[in-house]
Amino acid sequence: MENRRTVLVTGSSRGIGRQIALAFAEAGYNVVINYNKSEDSANKLVNEIKDHGVDSLAIKADVSSFTESQKLVEDAINHFKKIDVLINNSGITKDNMILRMKEEDFDSVIDVNLKGTWNMCRHLSGHFLKNREGKIINITSVVGLVGNPGQSNYVASKAGVIGLTKSLAKELGSRGITVNAVAPGFIETEMTKELSSEIQDAYLKQIPLKRFGTTNDVADLCVFLASSKADYITGQTISVNGGMV
Ligand code: NAP
Repeated sequence: MENRRTVLVTGSSRGIGRQIALAFAEAGYNVVINYNKSEDSANKLVNEIKDHGVDSLAIKADVSSFTESQKLVEDAINHFKKIDVLINNSGITKDNMILRMKEEDFDSVIDVNLKGTWNMCRHLSGHFLKNREGKIINITSVVGLVGNPGQSNYVASKAGVIGLTKSLAKELGSRGITVNAVAPGFIETEMTKELSSEIQDAYLKQIPLKRFGTTNDVADLCVFLASSKADYITGQTISVNGGMV
């Protein structure tokens, strides 16, 4: 178990993050699960991951907090000694048209999606620099590339994540660290279940592959980007959207 690589996936109690965690376990990685509220699902997932013969640990932390995300990184390093891959997946939506959007709905979405991603990169980059290796994968969104009405807060956060990715790729590249973003399209999770059937149908019409994405579609790309086969890819935003954009 000692020579295994270790991945830390934020927001991996549910949805896309959960599938990313499972895909890395299947690929032989030890997995640090992070959750904020969903403790039971996180603990269940740890057991499911251990069934793959790898080690796993669930750590509660609100990634939007500078100190909680720092503790998450410290606890993960204390347990596994070395972290090889960071996946910044935690994300929330608080949709509304701009005239109805509350200030706190703007702030909380930026805090979790953008500042949370920055917090994690800030706290883990020292470890990666010391090791002279590391892979950072930030989960953004198709709407961060093209915009979306009713999501000015979310889109700003996801476009911010793309800028953060490009800057850190330039900053950390000389030390063997790659930083990429993955931009999913419409993926079937609790986040998208909240949308009305009319909105879901409208999205489906825009997808040339004529189906919504699965969490596996995103997870498989993350495993590839974390592998040595992707060593020469950095600063990129790679879409998984069925041809939607
Ligand atoms: P989801 O099912 O709603 O899951 C969100 C995850 O984020 C949960 O594990 C949640 O953990 C965690 N989280 C929320 N706030 C957190 C915080 N403050 N600190 C730590 N973790 C927190 O969402 P999803 O659909 O899987 O989305 C995952 C990522 O993909 C997000 O970044 C989202 O923006 C992006 N994305 C999704 C789609 C899509 O179609 N679903 C498309 C494009 C991009 P707790 O339950 O423990 O709070």
